[in-house]
Amino acid sequence: MKLRPEILATPPYRQGRPAGPDAFKLSSNENPFPPLPGVLEAVVASAAVNRYPDASALALREVLAERVGASVDEVHVGAGSVALLSQLITAAAGPGDEVVYAWRSFEAYPGLVTVAGATSVQVPNRADHSHDLDAIAAAVTERTRVVIVCSPNNPTGTVVSAEGFAAFLDRVPSDVLVILDEAYAEFVTDGSAVNGLALLGTRPNLVVLRTFSKAYGLAGLRIGWATGPAPILDAARAAAIPLSVTEPAQQAAIASLGLETELLERVGTLASRRDDLAASLRDIGLAIPAAQGNFLWIAAGDESTAVGEILLDQGVVTRVFPGDGVRISIGEADAVDGVIEAGRRIVDLLPADHPARRTEVRA
Ligand SMILES: *Cc1c(COP(=O)(O)O)cnc(C)c1O
Repeated sequence: MKLRPEILATPPYRQGRPAGPDAFKLSSNENPFPPLPGVLEAVVASAAVNRYPDASALALREVLAERVGASVDEVHVGAGSVALLSQLITAAAGPGDEVVYAWRSFEAYPGLVTVAGATSVQVPNRADHSHDLDAIAAAVTERTRVVIVCSPNNPTGTVVSAEGFAAFLDRVPSDVLVILDEAYAEFVTDGSAVNGLALLGTRPNLVVLRTFSKAYGLAGLRIGWATGPAPILDAARAAAIPLSVTEPAQQAAIASLGLETELLERVGTLASRRDDLAASLRDIGLAIPAAQGNFLWIAAGDESTAVGEILLDQGVVTRVFPGDGVRISIGEADAVDGVIEAGRRIVDLLPADHPARRTEVRA
């Protein structure tokens, strides 16, 4: 069979591993709260699934456009923001073109670039696991078509500052598409972090991605959105598989925006659970990078598989990136104790000079 060699060399997307009945699934950055009642009602009410959905998701785009102060043409909805990433990359980059992004970052990026036929240029994160925006800007060449910035960065949790991002945009040519992937924006509590929505209308080459999968808890319905200049979004629409955003997903998103107070309260609960857990793990001696998403990162390096096994043994399924680190999602309150107990064993496992150990531990 004659298949594209670069596709044959690409591993399929690896999903967070499922949890057994007695374990907590903290491997996919999912929201642990069940949907609010109004959301399920909207899904049920839109269940005329013998009909195609509204291909342009106009009603949802109207609500979103009104909120962000954009026109409906400056909002685009996709079947998850992964679909939007795929459309934007495909619209801008093909064979011979380069897509620049930090590494480690979202594990979907390399595959999407390869499928588009383009080439990935991965720029290593700094020692504190944050994006190195200077190095990313310096990696932009005549071949670059897209730059992806992920803030908070999945899986390391760090954010890009508003100031740093503005300076970065000044350095990137205005005809190179910059995608700011803000899948976890609602969890951010650091006041200096970038907020893509505040930059709308200021740059001809900036598209901001948001999703209903994480803070809004609609991961299973597959719906995300992009906002930015209409000509770029028109190109994404042209690269989209038509009709892939279902009507139940569109209606659930509209209902969720109407229940935002309740939903954002849950987000606040998860953000404080994150901060408390990070503080506890630091107290017992782990170096946890600044965490602004709904997850924590342990840069366990070569010990990552062993660290993942310890967590599993404590009833917690996490996402292990062998050789690099372990990402722990913030989930149910009842999962916290197991993570802390695992943390103590992880400190014992790691040699004293391991970068994932804190040198100064509070008494
Ligand atoms: C989860 C995630 C997404 C998108 O998820 P969808 O479910 O496709 O909306 C996008 N970017 C990052 C960095 C993510 O972690």
